[in-house]
Amino acid sequence: MVKRTGIFFTYFQGERLKDFPQSLDGILDKENVSYYDAVYESRQGLYYLEPLSEELLLKVHSQSMVQRVKLTGDYESALYSAGGTVQAAERISQGQLDNAFVFTSFGDHHAGRDFYGGMCYFNGAALAITALRDRGVRRVVIVDTDCHHADGTRDIFNHDKDVLHICFCNQDYSDKYNNVDIRIPYRTSDDEYLNRVTQVLFSRLAAFETEYIFWEFGYDATKGEYGDKGLTMDCHPRLAAIIKAVADKVCQGRMVTILCGGSGRAVATYTIPRIIDCLAELGNYRTI
Ligand SMILES: [Zn+2]
Ligand SMILES: [Zn+2]
Repeated sequence: MVKRTGIFFTYFQGERLKDFPQSLDGILDKENVSYYDAVYESRQGLYYLEPLSEELLLKVHSQSMVQRVKLTGDYESALYSAGGTVQAAERISQGQLDNAFVFTSFGDHHAGRDFYGGMCYFNGAALAITALRDRGVRRVVIVDTDCHHADGTRDIFNHDKDVLHICFCNQDYSDKYNNVDIRIPYRTSDDEYLNRVTQVLFSRLAAFETEYIFWEFGYDATKGEYGDKGLTMDCHPRLAAIIKAVADKVCQGRMVTILCGGSGRAVATYTIPRIIDCLAELGNYRTI
């Protein structure tokens, strides 16, 4: 059966998403694609993206941190940004969607229980997992392919054996209690990188019995980006195909992709439509 894919869109600032949602022409009109927008509430055929509730927020983040984020002036957009991930996971758990791509204004993975930074305020994946647990979900995998170490996510799930956190970053920090860091060297190639990810995912997920996969998709390891590891723009759609294949195999395709680090507009405009094309099995783009 064709996958039902949700697109959750927030865009409040910055350059990188300036070509969206118009770059999703040829995708948004597909029957198996649903589009949730935080801004264009009145556009026909669209769903409204809901901001996060403060009740859920305080199950993950401390009261004092939430207060500090309020003082930044970005509080509302941070609520919508993380809210997309929560809503995506809930729609999947209700059986309305199989997978999702979440555009964020602020990332996830540097936001811990009581700290934030690196353009991350609230940890959308952690909030979504918390919401899913209220619905009876127990075991979840987070795959993080942003260039940098996911210190916030690790802070939240460090002692949670039912969350397998696989972070492809700069050092082998950890390999215990289902918290795994895999060092990806600088000056790697697409093939080396994808082989490593494939090998790690298949070996680690085989016995874990996850119910969902959350993919923290950062593209900052692309050539010319601020975390340049030598990857090309074509690496990311291939990576999407690998992670989707794993999700299809181990958890009935239940997968939430969250836009994480990366700043280049051209990279976003090239890769994101291809990733969504892969998730929704549209076949508009040739498999690379
Ligand atoms: Zn990063
Ligand atoms: Zn790491």
